[in-house]
Amino acid sequence: RRRRRRRRCRRRLHMSTHLRIQTGKSQLDTAVVSRFNSLPYPPDKILAEYVWVDAKGDCRSKSRTLPSARGKSVDALPRWNFDGSSTGQAPGDDSEVILRPCRIFRDPFRPRDDGNDNILVMCDTYTPAGVPLPTNTRAFGGGGGGGGGGGGGDGSMRAFGDDYHRAGGAFEGREDEEVWFGLEQEFTLFNLDQRTPLGWPTGGVPGRAQGPYYCSAGPENSYGRAITDAMYRACLYAGIDISGTNGEVMPGQQEYQVGPCVGIDAGDQLQMSRYILQRVCEEFQVYCSLHPKPIVEGDWNGAGMHTNVSTKTMREPGGIDAIRKAIYKLGARHQEHIAVYGEGNELRLTGKFETASIDKFSFGVANRGASVRIGRDTEAEGCGYFEDRRPSSNADPYLVTGKIMATIMEDVEV
Ligand code: ADP
Ligand code: MN
Ligand code: MN
Ligand code: MN
Ligand code: MN
Repeated sequence: RRRRRRRRCRRRLHMSTHLRIQTGKSQLDTAVVSRFNSLPYPPDKILAEYVWVDAKGDCRSKSRTLPSARGKSVDALPRWNFDGSSTGQAPGDDSEVILRPCRIFRDPFRPRDDGNDNILVMCDTYTPAGVPLPTNTRAFGGGGGGGGGGGGGDGSMRAFGDDYHRAGGAFEGREDEEVWFGLEQEFTLFNLDQRTPLGWPTGGVPGRAQGPYYCSAGPENSYGRAITDAMYRACLYAGIDISGTNGEVMPGQQEYQVGPCVGIDAGDQLQMSRYILQRVCEEFQVYCSLHPKPIVEGDWNGAGMHTNVSTKTMREPGGIDAIRKAIYKLGARHQEHIAVYGEGNELRLTGKFETASIDKFSFGVANRGASVRIGRDTEAEGCGYFEDRRPSSNADPYLVTGKIMATIMEDVEV
């Protein structure tokens, strides 16, 4: 009798581990959804998905129908609003947040072939009076790029001032510098339990340590490639300057690179690429984490957002001098940079697993254990770019690029 009881227990356990997490998606959806999605659109209308960054740093979005003609340029797009009390971005008694369109992309999730592209619209966020929200780290001075917003050009808008961090101010009037950023976005794919990375056994760790997984092929090494490939294609379709992808050191972890992009556009493109990644993961029903140290226990690499930087001067012959000066300035403001380089980054910047210690700034040629790295090519050619390896995978790209911009443009004797 005892054996029967034990068997019953085991069966219950077995069933509970096989409970599917219901998310509103099923195999049936695919066929049904594509039947409706293949219906033709009215040629004089497009769908616009307005995307913005919420209080946590994640992207949110909602859709609207617009006359086709308005989707051709960002200036022709109307402002819109959302209920900020539902995103933790405004109080309930004054809940309206204004969305100001900043950048248009083609919508890879609603493709059409009649020449009237549906669009994704990257927006930033303002109060009805035209003051950027505290969570609007993109904002430029002057209340949101002029027109319609009104007011807002107050003292709270200084770039990296005491109250708020704003990237826009650091870029304003610096267009001549032609600063380029290339952002390496690492991410980790999980089962829907949000605990088990792809390819890992439930509740356990892979049988083999790190080593075979980075840039690997084969079912025993590479997990989730279809997702990265789908995201890659979708980003290209959207018009994002995605420059490559690779499998990462920790199994289930991957990377893509965006850039080089000029100035604030790096932040816009990276935020939209993260939104596209999340939408692709929705389709695959795989959970994507941007946490800098998704698996703390054991010997597993964290996830970063290495930031490659160059000014026009750095890219021209002899530019290595400008690169060395910039690195010196970065070293002098190490802790200020760390403060905006992502939450939980202290778990990642330990001095192990291809990182430098969070407490101490260091740099080197071809050194992946340094805070800032100069590539071999750049050193050999005497010009090029440098790589800030400190930002974490969940860092705000506006803050990271804006802070680097502010520091390297500083007028100090070096
Ligand atoms: P890593 O060797 O560190 O893995 P990656 O190849 O992943 O480097 O990423 C390098 C990034 O730097 C790419 O996004 C690339 O477009 C970008 N990049 C290349 N040249 C420059 C430059 N002159 N300035 C800024 N970024 C650049
Ligand atoms: Mn409503
Ligand atoms: Mn890389
Ligand atoms: Mn990497
Ligand atoms: Mn790198």
